[in-house]
Amino acid sequence: AKVTRLGPSPTGFIHLGNLYGAFVDERLAHQSDGIFYLRIEDTDDKRYVEGAVEIIINSLKFFGIHFDEGASLEGDLGDYGDYTQSKRGEIYQCFAKKLVAEGKAYPCFLTEEEIAEIRAGQEAAKANPGIYGEYAKSRELSYEEILENLNAGKPYVLRLKSDGNPNQSDETVRKIRVNDAIRGILEMPENFQDVVILKATGIPTYHFAHVVDDHLMRTTHVIRGAEWLPSLPIHVELFEKLGWEPPIYCHTAQLMKLDEEGNKRKLSKRKDPELSLDYYRNQGYHPAAVREYLLTILNSNFEEWRMENPDAPIDDFTFTTEKMSNSGALFDLNKLNDISKDVLLRIPAAELYAFLKEWAEEFKPEIMHIFDDRAYLEKILDLGRNDKKPRKDFIYAQQMIAFISYFFDDLFQVEDEMPQEVPSEDVPAILNAYLAGYDHSDDQSQWFDKIRNIATELGYAAKPKDFKKHPEDYKGHVGHVSTVIRIALMGRAQSPDVWEIQQILGEERTKARISRYQ
Ligand code: GLU
Repeated sequence: AKVTRLGPSPTGFIHLGNLYGAFVDERLAHQSDGIFYLRIEDTDDKRYVEGAVEIIINSLKFFGIHFDEGASLEGDLGDYGDYTQSKRGEIYQCFAKKLVAEGKAYPCFLTEEEIAEIRAGQEAAKANPGIYGEYAKSRELSYEEILENLNAGKPYVLRLKSDGNPNQSDETVRKIRVNDAIRGILEMPENFQDVVILKATGIPTYHFAHVVDDHLMRTTHVIRGAEWLPSLPIHVELFEKLGWEPPIYCHTAQLMKLDEEGNKRKLSKRKDPELSLDYYRNQGYHPAAVREYLLTILNSNFEEWRMENPDAPIDDFTFTTEKMSNSGALFDLNKLNDISKDVLLRIPAAELYAFLKEWAEEFKPEIMHIFDDRAYLEKILDLGRNDKKPRKDFIYAQQMIAFISYFFDDLFQVEDEMPQEVPSEDVPAILNAYLAGYDHSDDQSQWFDKIRNIATELGYAAKPKDFKKHPEDYKGHVGHVSTVIRIALMGRAQSPDVWEIQQILGEERTKARISRYQ
C-alpha cells in the first residue's frame, strides 16, 4: 500500500500543478489500498494568507479530490499528531537538537550583514552562492564561544553541517543516485550547502520540516513538481543524516506554454491567470473536463485509454508513474476547450442542470430564475447534443449561460445585425409571412417548405447555389431568409436548428418574438 500526501502552503493560491499532484497522489494511494493525506506546510509565515486552508480544501473537493487523513475543516483526521506544520514545532526542534548533539548540525551566528557580504564576495569571485566551507565560520566555534554567544543573546539559526564538496568542478565530487519513479535514475552532485534547518524563530525550513514529516507520517511516495529537483540533494542528505530511508520521489513535469515567439516557457502566476484553479471555477469549467485535460497532457497513455473507453468514469484509469510525462507538458486552452465539449456531451442534462445551478449560486446569483423550470432548462441543455458537429458554445458555464440566454425573455438580447442581402423593408415582410403561415405542429420538413416558399415569393433563391450562379436574378437566398427568422427569435445569426429551438421555446414565445418586427 502506498502512502501519499499533498503538502500545500497556505498562500491562497492553488495552481493546476497542485491539482495534478493531488490527483496522482490520490490515485496511487487508492489503487494500492493505501492512504492519501493532507498536510499544511505553513512554515513560511510571510506567505500565509487568512482562510487559505479552507480555500485549499474546498477547491480540491470541487475538483473531486478527497483525503483519507490529515488536516480537514472538521479537525485533523489520523494518528500522526497535528497535520499542520506550524503546530509541530517541538517535533522539529527535537530532531534538530539530535543533529546538533551528533555534530551534524550547528548554531550559526552570522548576521544578515555578514551574509550579504559573503554573497557579494562570492559573486565577485564567481563562486557558488551559499554558506559552506570557508564561509561557514560558525562551524569552527568552540563550545565556550557558542555558550558566550548564546548568553549574550545573539540570534542564531541551526544549519546542517554538510559533508559535500563545494568545489563542484572537482572530478571527485560525489554523486547522489535517486531512482525517481517518473524520471528513472537521477544522478546529481551531492549537496554541499550548510542549509538552514531551523530559523532564528525556532521555525523549521521547508527542507527540514517535510523530511521529518514524511518520515514520521510514513509517506512512501512523494509526488511533487519538477521545481523541487534542484533541492533533492539537500533532502537526500537530510534523510541520510537523520538515519532514515527516503521515500520514493516522483517529480512531475512542469506546465509550459508557448509564448508569442513560439518558445516554451513556464506558466507564471503573474502572467497566466489560467494557472490558478480559481480561473476554472470562475469560468465554470466542469471539474471532469479539467481533470481529463490534465491527464491528457501529463500522461502519455491517457488519450489512448479514453478512445478505448469513451464512457468510462475517469477513476477507472490506472495511473502508472512510468507513463507520466517528465519533460514540460504543453498547456493549451484550446485543447482544454475541445476536451470540455466532449466531456459535457457525456454528461446527462439532469447532472448538467445541477452543475450549472451550483455554479450560478456562487458566481451569477442574478440568473437563478432560469433554474425554476427544470424541465425547460433540461431540454435546452440537450439541444444539439446529437448534432454531427459538437456544440461549439458548450464549454464552460459562463459561456453556456450566455449562449442559452435567448430562451429567457429577460436575458434575451439582439446581438447580430440582419444580413446585408436582405433590404430593411423585407424584414417585416419576411416575418409577417412567417407569422401568418406559422403552425407549431409542422414537422421539420413542412416547416422548411414554408420558409422556401416565403423566400421565392419575395425574390430570394430557394437554393444557395442558384443564387451563387445568378446573383443578378435574386436578392439573396433562403439561408438569408432563415437568418432573419433566427435573429428575430434568438437575436443571433448562428444557433442550433431553428425548428428544434422553436419546439423548446413553445408557440407563444415564438410568436411573440416574431411579432416584435411588425
Ligand atoms: N509546501 C510545498 C509547496 O507548496 C510542497 C512541496 C512538496 O510537495 O514537497 O510547494
